[in-house]
Amino acid sequence: MTKKAFITGVTGQDGAYLSEFLLKKGYAVFGGYRRTSSPNFWRLEELNILDQVELMEVDILDTGNLIRVFDKVGPDEIYNLAAQSYVAVSFEKPVLTGEITAIGVTRVLEAIRIVNPKVKFYQASSSEMFGKVREIPQNEMTPFYPRSPYAAAKLYGHWLTIDYRESYNIFGCSGILFNHESPLRGIEFITRKVSNAVARIKYGKQDYFEVGNMDAKRDWGYAKEYVEGMWMMLRQPEPKDYVLATNENHSVREFIEHAFSAIGVSLHWKGSGVNEAGLDSKTGKTLVKINPKFFRPGEVDQLLGDYSKAKNELGWEPKIKFRELVEIMVQQDLERISRAK
Ligand code: NDP
Ligand code: GDP
Repeated sequence: MTKKAFITGVTGQDGAYLSEFLLKKGYAVFGGYRRTSSPNFWRLEELNILDQVELMEVDILDTGNLIRVFDKVGPDEIYNLAAQSYVAVSFEKPVLTGEITAIGVTRVLEAIRIVNPKVKFYQASSSEMFGKVREIPQNEMTPFYPRSPYAAAKLYGHWLTIDYRESYNIFGCSGILFNHESPLRGIEFITRKVSNAVARIKYGKQDYFEVGNMDAKRDWGYAKEYVEGMWMMLRQPEPKDYVLATNENHSVREFIEHAFSAIGVSLHWKGSGVNEAGLDSKTGKTLVKINPKFFRPGEVDQLLGDYSKAKNELGWEPKIKFRELVEIMVQQDLERISRAK
């Protein structure tokens, strides 16, 4: 019989790639999206799968809604990807972030417990939970130290998944995923903000862009590979938690430098602190500026993941590393802009 998967947050980056992956595996894919005044299906459209996903209105703020939808669909697997996922916004909307990103997980788990506790459940946890890191690199045993309302909310969801596994025998896995990016990444995240701005600069659509802390380091992988890891976790005999990462980290500054080198521009840096700027080495034009509005009240200085458990038990390994990822993202944004011309 055809397996049914339900994905909350299907309109997001991972929701789109996971839908594509599961469709290829022969699943019937049901995607939960929240009602907005205008539809937001551009990612599913870009992957050409909009007509293959059964879209259903689901808000993880509403338990009754979740129960009715799960009851109607009868999924074998549920992937909870819905979240207020942007760290910077979580400082401005900490309560809403908690409602969606933390308590939302309880609502989904309660709906599972009520409708069918045999469902396999994936929770999208985050490396942000390691925050002010207690050891380098971070693995599944590393103590957590969340540094934002988003990270604290994700930690709640992570522990709830473990609690429901231990209390009610629910097959729940928490994937502790390090940052993963792609041409489908939201424009507010640094990688896509940079790839988009660099492509626009190349086409003369803007002169420069502004960023915050360029010294933060992240372990950036390719989203398309990470969604496969989610599915692999649910194939294991026992539900467990896994780190997915590349075990390489790079600074925001390096990301910016590589993005410019993908369009043949070499940058040099001038000044320091908020007066630092990135200049085109050839023309001397300022291409990157610092704007303190992008600094965060609490910063995660560096993240570096150890994915050995996923490699040993799931056979999962990242293939696309930093340089290639930056190039894929810049190329895709260049193509988008040239197509729109
Ligand atoms: P996105 O921000 O792209 O997607 C989040 C999704 O959640 C969107 O579809 C959004 O809908 C939906 N959503 C938000 N609020 C609600 C709500 N109240 N009810 C229903 N749906 C809602 O995130 P990603 O795809 O990048 O990430 C997927 C998950 O993985 C998220 O939980 C994220 O926090 C987590 N994660 C991501 C990492 C990454 O590097 N990408 C790293 C580690 C964890 P809408 O389109 O309407 O906004
Ligand atoms: P996060 O790791 O989930 O917070 O992913 P982001 O892509 O939002 O941020 C990654 C890092 O880039 C953080 O340390 C930010 O402080 C840093 N950063 C520097 N400038 C910017 C900016 O302009 N936008 C964003 N989103 N992040 C920035």
